[in-house]
Amino acid sequence: MPTSSSTTIVIGAGVVGLSTALYLQRAGQRVIVIDALPPASAASYGNSGLISCDTAAPIALPGMLGKVPGWLFDRLGPLVIRPSYLPKVLPWLVRWVEASRFSRVFEVSDAMRALHKEAMNCWRELLGPEHFNDLIRTVGQVRIWEGGAGSESQIELAICARHGIKAETLSPDDIRQLYPEISPNIKSGVLIPNNGYTINPQRLVQTLGNLLVAEGGQILTERVLKIIPNAGQQGFMLMTNVNNHNVDQVVVASGAWSLALLEPLGIKVPLETERGYHAMMPSPNITLKIPVSIKNRGFGLTSMEHGMRAAGTVEFAGLTASPDEQRAKNLVTQAKRVFPTLQTGEPKYWLGFRPSTPDSLPVLGPVSHIPGLFLAFGHAHWGMTGGPPTGKLISQMVTGAPLSIDPLPYSYKRFNQFI
Ligand SMILES: Cc1cc2nc3c(=O)[nH]c(=O)nc-3n(C[C@H](O)[C@H](O)[C@H](O)COP(=O)(O)OP(=O)(O)OC[C@H]3O[C@@H](n4cnc5c(N)ncnc54)[C@H](O)[C@@H]3O)c2cc1C
Repeated sequence: MPTSSSTTIVIGAGVVGLSTALYLQRAGQRVIVIDALPPASAASYGNSGLISCDTAAPIALPGMLGKVPGWLFDRLGPLVIRPSYLPKVLPWLVRWVEASRFSRVFEVSDAMRALHKEAMNCWRELLGPEHFNDLIRTVGQVRIWEGGAGSESQIELAICARHGIKAETLSPDDIRQLYPEISPNIKSGVLIPNNGYTINPQRLVQTLGNLLVAEGGQILTERVLKIIPNAGQQGFMLMTNVNNHNVDQVVVASGAWSLALLEPLGIKVPLETERGYHAMMPSPNITLKIPVSIKNRGFGLTSMEHGMRAAGTVEFAGLTASPDEQRAKNLVTQAKRVFPTLQTGEPKYWLGFRPSTPDSLPVLGPVSHIPGLFLAFGHAHWGMTGGPPTGKLISQMVTGAPLSIDPLPYSYKRFNQFI
């Protein structure tokens, strides 16, 4: 059990690491966040900004297996596997398809619901009313389908019903009232009224960092090279590119890069990166009151304080392959299919690395054979949603406080049967 004067190092200054650090700081811990980059420079920088407290549907849904061949050949499709990366990603994909069984989908959905449902409350708690009202909008989210909703929308609606989540089916007229400029091809949609979004993911996550420092925490710009447990006693020495740090507890919140720190400690987890792109359109002539996800194309449009962002799609190509800028540019083309009169200004393009497990659940909690080491990564498509509740849970674990949710579904041990 840590004493009130014990020090925790959190590796990673994304939404997960900074939420965890701020909860720990407020629980009386000494906290240092270490990141090779400034706060909110990786996945937490360029996402769609959706805060989806009422979303509990995993990515892997029944019927996926039949789609796999198409993923290899449509370079600009919503999901693509670079052929040269197929051998590397295949074992992960097999687990992904395995996780799309109905029975597993509902188990996963229960665990997603438990983590996500407190997301908006956690953001309120972390930010306080002034920053919350400045940065977050609780106006709902809309999902639309070109050419009619497929079977996946039925499964998503069943998941909403299972959890008592409010979901309103939208008629073509409802859709046109919300979005007068939308293409007449869009005929079906669903409004999830209790979801929301941020007008600037980067500024939101930077605000967590600013609050941490204002409340006494530290953020160091260093790259952690190795976590070395002290022999025979609790505690760690962290080697970074410029320093050594002795510390009582370590939280690995390093997103898609977490495995590089864990594999030398004998911890193996099936973590892949689902690469995603954005096109930031700086001067759009259309403003969306409610962000909209175009489900059959795998991307979304969010009006932010600095323009309209088209973001999403999935590309399996690993952490080091160069970006395919055509995928980013195609987001603008797709946005114009949905809003034919959209003008954009000169878009800026971005590639980000979602940290993803095959079952869509993050990896959270202590490592049983290394006391003081905690895992907090793998939030895939929902880090802006699950990040703050994760921070609360990990802080409770580190300090020995009662846990707000059952941590079992998120344990790294769920993958033991595969490794
Ligand atoms: C296109 C796209 C759209 C998305 N849209 C949404 C959305 O609308 N809503 C939502 O909830 N989620 C969304 N996501 C997912 C979300 O962005 C991620 O789940 C989330 O940002 C992950 O946060 P993180 O803190 O785990 O990782 P990151 O933000 O990636 O941070 C990890 C940090 O760890 C640091 N690090 C790694 N290794 C080391 C090391 N050895 N030493 C020091 N530092 C290290 C990195 O520099 C990085 O800053 C989207 C993602 C993408 C790509």
